[in-house]
Amino acid sequence: MEQSAKGVREIASADQPFMCSFCLRPREETGVLVGAPAVGICRKCTEAAVVLFQNSVPEAGPMQRAPWDALDNEELLRQLPKVAKARDDVENHLRIWVGAARSRKISWASIGESLGMSRQSAWERFHQSVVAEDKSA
Ligand SMILES: [Zn+2]
Repeated sequence: MEQSAKGVREIASADQPFMCSFCLRPREETGVLVGAPAVGICRKCTEAAVVLFQNSVPEAGPMQRAPWDALDNEELLRQLPKVAKARDDVENHLRIWVGAARSRKISWASIGESLGMSRQSAWERFHQSVVAEDKSA
């Protein structure tokens, strides 16, 4: 790599995802993950991506099939818990960000507006986890 891209860094803190967002393997299995908030990529997937970049034609081709199209029913069902865990990781990450906003005394109305929901919806969705963090601090 000639230059580093802004925002590309090793994921090392506890508030970052614990699995590769592409192959869904846990960090214990992949080793170093590189990523941004709530997403990560392992070395193996990065290398596969580099090959795709190197072999790609400049113009966009037809859309590839969805990943589940290549799976039989058993394989698809085996992937569902991993996708659900990825969803949970993203939700947990969002809670950490909302907690950071609340620790800055940002209002529930502003948080809700930022997330495209009402003040009441934001409070109902996040207040228990934020309160739990306040008590553990
Ligand atoms: Zn991976």
